[in-house]
Amino acid sequence: MNKNYEVAVFQGDGIGPEIMAPTLDILRRLSEENPGYSLTFKDAPAGAAHYAATGESFPAESLETARAADAILLSAMGLPDVRYEDGTEISPQIDLRKQLGLFAGVRPVKVSNGQTTPLALPNGKEIDFVLIRESTEGLFFTQGAGEVTQDEARETLLITRDVSEKLFRFAFDLARNRRASGRGTGRVTCVDKANVFRAFAFFRSLFNAEAARHPDLKADHAYVDATALWMVQKPWEFDVLVTENMFGDILSDLGAGLMGGLGLAPSADIGLDHAVFQPCHGSAPDIAGQGIANPFAMILSAAMMLEWLGITHDHAALSNDGQRLREAVEKVTANGSNLTRDLGGTAGTADAANSVMKALRA
Ligand code: NAD
Repeated sequence: MNKNYEVAVFQGDGIGPEIMAPTLDILRRLSEENPGYSLTFKDAPAGAAHYAATGESFPAESLETARAADAILLSAMGLPDVRYEDGTEISPQIDLRKQLGLFAGVRPVKVSNGQTTPLALPNGKEIDFVLIRESTEGLFFTQGAGEVTQDEARETLLITRDVSEKLFRFAFDLARNRRASGRGTGRVTCVDKANVFRAFAFFRSLFNAEAARHPDLKADHAYVDATALWMVQKPWEFDVLVTENMFGDILSDLGAGLMGGLGLAPSADIGLDHAVFQPCHGSAPDIAGQGIANPFAMILSAAMMLEWLGITHDHAALSNDGQRLREAVEKVTANGSNLTRDLGGTAGTADAANSVMKALRA
């Protein structure tokens, strides 16, 4: 039986529309060839260029389109030269996290054999772990509302039982799903600073309580500073890492660095009812309009979307296509002949995306 899924599409700013177009072409092709499902796409205008043109950065109809959709695909939003009167940037992607309760920022870090990484990997070792960054509270709780006086500045770190319990349940479920698909050993590591801060001791105690509900999985802890060291020294040992917002913000860029840069780093922001899939990078205004942007992180984010839809709707056809799409990008990057400039090649956006299409057919 064919089931249709509606995807809200935020084309975004800068290189956003350039990397979104070939990604939607690939998704259309995949769904047309698969009798099990179909995809329809609905544009949700928002972002800096939209604000410059209309005075509105995130129209209510676009939020409704996102809320009504089965999944949300977003490229990147914001332009350094377009700002609100208070000097801050337009960032509907952050509003979406808050509006839709997207507490789990999922950042896969994967380096397969043949792919470039700044590390010298021991023979046969591959990197394949997922960092989950709590995305609605932590040290970002007072974002934009910190207190600053002449002599002092304060921000508040908030850890709540409600969000942490949802976050840890999500982390253990993800580890189980990964193990079932042959990736990972079923291990979840809580990354914190529980040796120094009471808030993190609380975070850890909630993690331990959730771990006790999953005796079939392994659970352990690591301090955030040691984690940064081990992500460089032995990243192949990790499976699922779960951490607070600010720690996750920093470690996920280290993860992107392990993959050779932001051009290969996909992400998802997931809540109980909604999920946004978007590359980790921004709108890259310095290269916009030249046809040279790397589309791989966007395409990998679309692959994550298919896998997530497959899991949440128990629909194997979608999960399989998500996995095929991810593997096709991995083949192209390992082969190395059609890479964009940021990865050391000379290919343009269209050629790089076409090579993914070809790899899907091979
Ligand atoms: P950026 O990620 O846009 O760019 C940093 C560098 O990486 C630039 O040199 C850029 O050319 C390069 N780059 C990024 N993506 C690339 C790609 N796909 N292919 C090739 N090169 C790529 O970060 P920035 O310059 O700090 O931010 C630019 C704008 O994007 C800002 O307005 C910022 O607020 C916004 N931003 C948005 C998001 C988001 O929507 N999630 C994330 C980060 C930044």
